[in-house]
Amino acid sequence: MFVSTYKFTCSERFLKYVKYDTESDPDSMMYPSTRKQKVLLKELAEELKGMGLKDAQMDEWGYVMATLPSNVDKNVPTIAFIAHVDTSPQVSGANVKPAIIKNYGGEDIRLENGLTIDVKDNPDLKDKIGHDIITTDGNTLLGADDKAGVAEIMDAMNYLLSHPGVKHGTIKVCFTPDEEIGKGTDKLDVKELGAQFGYTIDSGGIGEIKTETFNADGVTIKFHGISAHPGYSKGKMVNSIKAAAAFIDGLPKDSLAPEAVEGREGFVHCLSVTGNEELTTLKLIVRDFERKKLKEYEELLKTLAECTVRQFPGSKFDLEVHEQYRNMGEVLEKFPKVTEYALEAMRRLGLEPKIGDTRGGTDGARLSFKGVPTPNLFDGSHNIHSPLEWITVQDMELAVKAIVEIARVWEEKAS
Ligand SMILES: [Zn+2]
Repeated sequence: MFVSTYKFTCSERFLKYVKYDTESDPDSMMYPSTRKQKVLLKELAEELKGMGLKDAQMDEWGYVMATLPSNVDKNVPTIAFIAHVDTSPQVSGANVKPAIIKNYGGEDIRLENGLTIDVKDNPDLKDKIGHDIITTDGNTLLGADDKAGVAEIMDAMNYLLSHPGVKHGTIKVCFTPDEEIGKGTDKLDVKELGAQFGYTIDSGGIGEIKTETFNADGVTIKFHGISAHPGYSKGKMVNSIKAAAAFIDGLPKDSLAPEAVEGREGFVHCLSVTGNEELTTLKLIVRDFERKKLKEYEELLKTLAECTVRQFPGSKFDLEVHEQYRNMGEVLEKFPKVTEYALEAMRRLGLEPKIGDTRGGTDGARLSFKGVPTPNLFDGSHNIHSPLEWITVQDMELAVKAIVEIARVWEEKAS
């Protein structure tokens, strides 16, 4: 049954959404990867309709889209606000039991199951004294990544609908499944989205805007050996597992490895090994902010594989590279307005904008290359993908204000 959502605050919306288990599954062959994501997505479509966004609906893949029509005569570019409903498969998202600490006093936060959110590991907590902090009971993740983004977009749309004096162009809302498994935009039709520019509202502390992602490729290397009965294989068997092991041992350890780098440094990383004497398959990923570095890393892998097969006469290898995503900074620098207007909106709210990069990908990276330049804006979440996840009610309200203000800036700057 439809219930008017008008009276809800952003945090009430958030507390409602986190109760839905929306974990995605990297091993699933379905789209979306888990059916349960669609339960929340359908609910969101209903809520948007209830607010007055008449065209709100969920499509067969689970994407929820809705339009807030322009309320001015000017030709304002259409912008989209995008968030994902799925939660990371790294930590359970079922039976989330949020806890609220009202008027936080600056102390370490002890969760119900005994885990602690320490102030020393969470320096941002010092800025949250007096805030109302939402955590879990320690047994699950919270799902602020990215249900905070969902709640903030919902609340911003509700605000704009109930404050018709705030001028804005056409605004699109888009909620996606499967972002956490890198498939958030796989089936997304950007024509149907119909936006010229977008903002994902997905993780990050107050004022953060991310305009760069890694460039990312996947690499599959297969070592072929020669199998023989182990009792009678002298001089015959070439064990591909041993070749693969030698290759892995040759991978960089003190540099170019995820456990050895940070900041703007890239890496090569072996994700999985499967095989037997005859065939061993390695899956690797390569990452860097500079596109040309990926080629260097792929060359390095090839050279190492060539050296390896020379040590195992009779073995062979083949290597395949699959493009995954590219640094959205390449696109965003051609459309500086998208970032500038978000910075302007934050300054107007008295926030200190922090431009940064993300050592991973976002839905925005793929959208940017599909023709919709899309940086990522903060949603106020901390310690994502962890039972120590937390967010504050007041930070969520600031994110709502930032969304509303961005809509205002685009309207003002349009001619
Ligand atoms: Zn996220």
